[in-house]
Amino acid sequence: MKALVLEKTRSLSLRDIDLPDTLGPRDVRIAIDTVGICGSDVHYYTHGRIGPFVVESPMVLGHEASGTVSEIGAEVTTLKPGDRVCMEPGIPNPDNRATRLGLYNVDPDVTFWATPPIHGCLAPSVVHPEAFTYKLPDTVSFAQGAMIEPLAVGMQAAAKAKIAPGDTALVIGAGPIGILTALAALAGGCARVFISDLEQIKLDIAGQYSGVHPINIASQNLKDRIRTETDGWGLDVIFEASGNPRAYEGIFDMLRPSGAVVLVGMPIAPVPLDIVAAQAREARIETVFRYAHVYDRAIALVASGKIDLDPLVTKTFAFDDAITAFERAAEGRPGDVKLQIKL
Ligand SMILES: [Zn+2]
Repeated sequence: MKALVLEKTRSLSLRDIDLPDTLGPRDVRIAIDTVGICGSDVHYYTHGRIGPFVVESPMVLGHEASGTVSEIGAEVTTLKPGDRVCMEPGIPNPDNRATRLGLYNVDPDVTFWATPPIHGCLAPSVVHPEAFTYKLPDTVSFAQGAMIEPLAVGMQAAAKAKIAPGDTALVIGAGPIGILTALAALAGGCARVFISDLEQIKLDIAGQYSGVHPINIASQNLKDRIRTETDGWGLDVIFEASGNPRAYEGIFDMLRPSGAVVLVGMPIAPVPLDIVAAQAREARIETVFRYAHVYDRAIALVASGKIDLDPLVTKTFAFDDAITAFERAAEGRPGDVKLQIKL
């Protein structure tokens, strides 16, 4: 099967490769339609590793996918050939304690597309468990379906925040995950979501959405603006979605008493945290690792029209141009929110 293979750092090829293709009784085979390029795919391409995960042998990239079911295993009951679907890329071990507690995203044995040594989905067809394959309503396009994966991270962040109707939130960082977190927070009941970044083009994209209020920290003092906007009370929720260590400096100063800070971005090194500033407000600190139990809700929000993903798909490339797509993604153009590849 011809797939997009990361041979080693900075070396991609579109070539034939043997991929696991056995259809188990509770699996479905899916003809891939659309795959989004994620920051993690790009990082493996440019650096060959993310933390402890090192690319040691050729690996197929891609984990944000939608497609059409082409074949089902003997015991599959909820899906049939022809169904349009999107897939949750992480598969836990069902017998493990974390999975049995419902915490399957933090199961130590979880396997995840395009996290070494597991192959991703930038190939014409994949085999995937029925349990992690979700039917798309007719109103959700394949492009939107391939955006459910990054949206799920924002959904997990909004769920962890325990938003109350009318809350005011701030998202630090207007990258794809930051914008999707802002949209999930609004859908989850926030009245206002501020979003901060240094790049005006990213803020302009985020600011297209009503209820999202951009703050350019290159020209404005974030803390002063938040103090003014909240009449000195502070934010109910702060989502850190930049991964930039500087975002943590004084972060609790912007939080109302007993507010929540949700850590979504992943700094590449340990970051100092002002514990006393957090204690003085009895801040609640939540962390996010991927997501669990949010795919169906994410799809429902997109299907209902409450979340519009279309403005976030910047450009779509043909499969034959997948390497060009990755080169473009590696450029890191600030106006590129999501690049997708159509098979
Ligand atoms: Zn992703």
